[in-house]
Amino acid sequence: MDRTEKFIDVLVQTFPSATYVIEGQERRPYEADWRGLVDRPAVAVLLPASTAEVAAMVKLCREFGIAIVPQGGRTGLVAGAVPVGAVPQVIVSTQRMNKIRSIDPINNTMEIDGGVILQVAQEAAAAIDRLFPLSLASEGSCHIGGTIATNAGGIQVLSYGSMRQQVLGLEVVLPDGQIWNGLRGLRKDNTGLDLKQLFIGSEGMFGIITAATVRLLPRPKSALTMLAAIDSAGQALKAFTKIQNLCGADLTSCEYFTAGGLEMVLDHLPDSTAPFRERHPAYVLLEVTSLDSSTDFFGRLEPVLAELLETGTIADMVVAQSEVQRLALWKLREGISEAERAAGGAIKHDIAVPISGIPDVIDKISQWLHGILPSCKLNVFGHLGDGNLHVNIAPPAGTSLSSFYSQGKRVTAYVEQAAIEAGGTFSAEHGIGQLRVESLEKYRAPVELELMRTIKDAIDPTWMMNPGKVLSLAR
Ligand code: FAD
Repeated sequence: MDRTEKFIDVLVQTFPSATYVIEGQERRPYEADWRGLVDRPAVAVLLPASTAEVAAMVKLCREFGIAIVPQGGRTGLVAGAVPVGAVPQVIVSTQRMNKIRSIDPINNTMEIDGGVILQVAQEAAAAIDRLFPLSLASEGSCHIGGTIATNAGGIQVLSYGSMRQQVLGLEVVLPDGQIWNGLRGLRKDNTGLDLKQLFIGSEGMFGIITAATVRLLPRPKSALTMLAAIDSAGQALKAFTKIQNLCGADLTSCEYFTAGGLEMVLDHLPDSTAPFRERHPAYVLLEVTSLDSSTDFFGRLEPVLAELLETGTIADMVVAQSEVQRLALWKLREGISEAERAAGGAIKHDIAVPISGIPDVIDKISQWLHGILPSCKLNVFGHLGDGNLHVNIAPPAGTSLSSFYSQGKRVTAYVEQAAIEAGGTFSAEHGIGQLRVESLEKYRAPVELELMRTIKDAIDPTWMMNPGKVLSLAR
C-alpha cells in the first residue's frame, strides 16, 4: 500500500460520517478550472462540514505529507483552486460550510461561513435592509472564502472598495491544523500586527478560511443606471470624469465594453437585447445610487448628460426606467465572460493602469495586435472607474483556443509589459494562481519575492498549502 492509499484508508476510518472521497465522475468537476484550461487529478475531494473537521483533515494531510488545495466556488480565473502537478494533493472544498452564523444590525456586521455563496450573503444583508457591497458577475457561485482569498474586486469598488475593505475578522485553519479565531467585529484594533491582512488575497497559500466577520453598510434607496454609446475609451473617460465630479461617491459603477463584447453577449446569452439600433464602437455603463429615496438623479444629471451629448462625447444613451431594464443593461456587461466562454474562449488578461492611461494602453495593444495577428479578436472590457481592464484576445475564426495558445506567451508578455510601462499591474483582481506565477517572478522585485517566500516558510514550512500557486515550487 503506497502513501496515498494509506492516507485514503485512514481518512475513511477517521471520518466515517463525513463526505470525503468523491469517486470517479463525481470528482471530475472539482478538478477542472472554470476556463477549462487546467484539469489534473486530486487524491481525493474533501467536503468538511465544520471548522473542527477542516482542522482534523488538515492535520491528517500533514501527517501523510499530502498537500491541500483550498477550494471555494471554482470561479477563479487563474486556476488557483485546482491541483498543480508534482505532488499528491487533496482538494478541500468549503461547499458544505454555508451558514450565516449571526447578523448584528447595530454593529452592522455579519459572521458567515467561508462556503457561503456571495449572493446568499448579499441577500442576508438585504433582508435586514443593509448592503453587503461586494458584487461580481460570478456572485451566484463564488464563495465568501474564495472572494477573501482572492481579494475580489468587481463592479462597485469605486464606492466601497474590494473584499479587503469589507473584512473585519477571520477564522482560519492554519497549515499545521491549528484554528486561528480572529472573528472580531471591530473597526479599530491596533493590538499588534493585523493578521487577517496576511490571509486576504493570499490565494489559499497560508490556510483555509473557514469563516469571516464582514461589515454591512446602509442600503441605497434609489439608483439610476445608464448606458452610453461612445466612440472610444477616451470619450468614456471624459464622460466618467464629468459624472464623477458631479456625483462623487454616489457614482458606484463605471464599466466599459466594446462592440465585440456586446455582440458576443447578444449571440450567446438568451434574453439579451441590443440597447441601441445602431452599432457603436464602445459603451460605458454608469450607475449612481443614493441613500435618499427621493433623490432626483435624472434632474441632477440632465445638464451634464445634455452637454455630453451635444459635444459628441456621448453618441447616444439609454437610461433604465425599471429594475427589469436595469438588470437587462447590467446583463450586457456582466454576461461578457460567460458569452466569451461560449464563443470558444480567449487568452485572458486582467491589467490595471492609472485611469488617465487607459486610452493609450488600449491603443498601444490594439495597434500591436493588428500588426502581428490582424485576424484575432480583441475584447477589452472591465471596471473603467478602477483602471482595471480585461484585455482578452480570441483566436481567428477557424483556429482553436488550444492551438492559439502557442502564440499565448508572446501575446501575454506584450499586454502585461504594456500595462507595466503605463505604471500599472499585470493582475488587478484575479490574482496569480498557477497561470501568472512567471509574471509575478518577472515583475515583482527580488526583495519582494524573498519576503513572500520568508512569510510562506514561517507559516507553512513544508509548503503543503496550495503548492505551486502564487510562488513557484522551483526555488
Ligand atoms: P475559487 O475559484 O474556488 O478559488 C480561488 C482561490 O482562492 C484559489 O487560490 C483557492 O485555493 C482559494 N480559496 C478558495 N476558497 C478558499 C478558502 N476558503 N480559504 C483559503 N483559500 C481559498 N473576480 C473579481 O475580482 N472581479 C470580478 O468582477 C470578477 N468577475 C468574474 C466574472 C465571472 C463570470 C467569473 C467566472 C469570474 C469572475 N471573477 C471576478 C473571478 C472569481 O469569481 C473571483 O476570483 C472569486 O473571488 C473566486 O471565488 P471562488 O469562491 O470561486 O474561489
